[in-house]
Amino acid sequence: MKSETVALTAVSPGTIRVLTRHVWGKAGQGPKVYLQSALHADEMPGAIALWHLMDLLDRAEAEGRITGEVVVVPLANPIGLTQWLQGKPQGRQDLESMRNFNRGYPDLAALAGDALAGRLTGDADRNCAPDPRRLCRGAGRRDPADRGGRVAHPADAGLA
Ligand SMILES: [Zn+2]
Repeated sequence: MKSETVALTAVSPGTIRVLTRHVWGKAGQGPKVYLQSALHADEMPGAIALWHLMDLLDRAEAEGRITGEVVVVPLANPIGLTQWLQGKPQGRQDLESMRNFNRGYPDLAALAGDALAGRLTGDADRNCAPDPRRLCRGAGRRDPADRGGRVAHPADAGLA
């Protein structure tokens, strides 16, 4: 397993926030699975489950049983984790914009439609070939949390 960090846009000068992802296996050697939890930062059951899964993935990797790539982001919302008010976590909404952290996805449907226009065939496997990263280009970053979506793509399967 290797752990990597992805820098998020700083909310104020002199501060740093990062998203930490843990990776087992190697990119391009099989399917990629992406798992994340705690997008609403105050919801810890998923994070606890992924921490336990990480131990199992360590064991599987040591035994050579990882045939693809597994990416785990157990704390998908470091911004929300810092938002406490009167002793209570406030991780459901960005306190600055009041936008729900789990409602800020870029609308990729229009981009996908433009990118795939005239390219789809009757062959489902061939239709899946376009690189999903192409579809994300131009989606724009609407807030610092959007960077998390870039950590997930492309994946063959995902669970949040
Ligand atoms: Zn939630």
